[in-house]
Amino acid sequence: MAKAEFDIIVLGAGPGGYVGAIRAAQLGFRTALIEANHLGGVCLNWGCIPTKAMLRSAEIYRQFKHAESYGLSSSQVEFDLQKIVARSRNIAKQLSSGVAHLLKKNKVTVFDGYGRLLGGGKLSVEKNGREPLFLSGKHILLATGSRPRISPGLEPDGNLVWTSKEALVPKSLPPSLLVIGSGAIGIEFASFYNAFGSKVTVVEIMDQILPTEDREIAEFAQKEMEKQGIRFLLGTKVGNLRRDEGTVEATCEKAGKSESITVSRVISAVGVVPNVEDIGLEAAGVLLDARGFIQTNAHGRTTAEGIFAIGDVSGGPCLAHKASHEAILCVETIAGLQGVHALDKTLIPSCTYSHPQVASVGLTEVMAKEAGNQINVGRFPARGNGKAIAMGEPEGLVKTIFDARTGELLGAHLVGAEVTELIQGFAIAKNLETTEVDLIRTIFPHPTLSEMIHESVLGACGRAIHV
Ligand code: FAD
Repeated sequence: MAKAEFDIIVLGAGPGGYVGAIRAAQLGFRTALIEANHLGGVCLNWGCIPTKAMLRSAEIYRQFKHAESYGLSSSQVEFDLQKIVARSRNIAKQLSSGVAHLLKKNKVTVFDGYGRLLGGGKLSVEKNGREPLFLSGKHILLATGSRPRISPGLEPDGNLVWTSKEALVPKSLPPSLLVIGSGAIGIEFASFYNAFGSKVTVVEIMDQILPTEDREIAEFAQKEMEKQGIRFLLGTKVGNLRRDEGTVEATCEKAGKSESITVSRVISAVGVVPNVEDIGLEAAGVLLDARGFIQTNAHGRTTAEGIFAIGDVSGGPCLAHKASHEAILCVETIAGLQGVHALDKTLIPSCTYSHPQVASVGLTEVMAKEAGNQINVGRFPARGNGKAIAMGEPEGLVKTIFDARTGELLGAHLVGAEVTELIQGFAIAKNLETTEVDLIRTIFPHPTLSEMIHESVLGACGRAIHV
């Protein structure tokens, strides 16, 4: 029975766990990392990266189909779904091996197996019924992530009703598709399958798509996607799924009325639940919060001495960059570094890589008003931006929200081409507590999409030039 001792043991090698392990090793801790499935976690293997690889194929296909509008001609544009999937899987594999390399380079000891807390700083690691390994650590970092939420009656079966995992490896293109849930994951799959010709319907129980986004931006994105042929049923609940051979009949209910829709496949994208079961939380005295996530403070400390939790398992927003950022804060706190800041969730940007893309940071207009702020709102449409027009992507909007009294940037909300890249300008601005005056005085290169940031801020101050 092997036993090994470490300063820090990390459970789960997603973007939270592997980043935390590397930082811990850099700080001189003897570090172990336990992973049951795949280095890189959901993000690299079944989330952020493979979806973006597939969406890139969709984007290029869309461009090819509009070749004429760029003065190009291409007679027969075809796609091979299996090659698209293979490309996405290869990219995931490549990045997962990259993580293995980084862990080795930083001298993190990796254990391949399922880890469980035993209490008293001890963990077991099991794999395929072999004799368990026992590890003990002065500090333990839980980063076990999350998995798709399963709603009763809408249980995925891997064949007709998919989770995001099956949706990433389709054997063929479903002629019709029902996506349940219009968060970022649902909208990205709707966008991907629509681009290749599936007839897509999205059902959302709330009265706007991308429910956490600013309403005006979400409605803008919805209209653009409707023009591409996606149908949205808002304020609608899928009550039941009747599975037949090759098809699924979904009962969609809205305000006492019901409509039945028959589709070839369903994607259930109704959120995620944390992986908190069967990891020994009770044995170690780690408590959950009211929503079922591990309860932590702003530096990842749980209710048990010496045990920390970060990433999806410790609560939303369930995003890879939140997980990695928390991991660093947490490990630096364990190391006793001076001036480690607390996580400020209002500074976490969120992105949806659909067509058009959506990105935001900070308060929505409704949230800013509800918080009692007097606000100045600036808007700039992409059709007023030279680069967007030159790119042939003039559908978009940049919306900025400032505190009218102090000029502080409260929120930025974008829809359109490459806004998932542009949002970082606002994330930096917010982190530095930039005011509208600072942004107005900033010089933006021409011609770029980033000039929309400038114009939107000018608009908030009633000084717009190009509208
Ligand atoms: P995870 O990535 O879930 O990793 C946890 C790891 O722990 C897993 O590898 C798991 O095998 C392992 N594990 C769990 N329990 C044990 C155990 N007992 N023993 C050993 N190992 C264990 N986020 C973004 O920021 N941008 C995106 O574009 C984006 N797109 C997404 C698309 C999809 C389809 C999905 C599903 C998610 C997407 N996300 C995206 C969310 C992102 O993947 C997660 O927020 C992120 O992976 C969370 O990181 P984590 O380290 O907390 O956990």
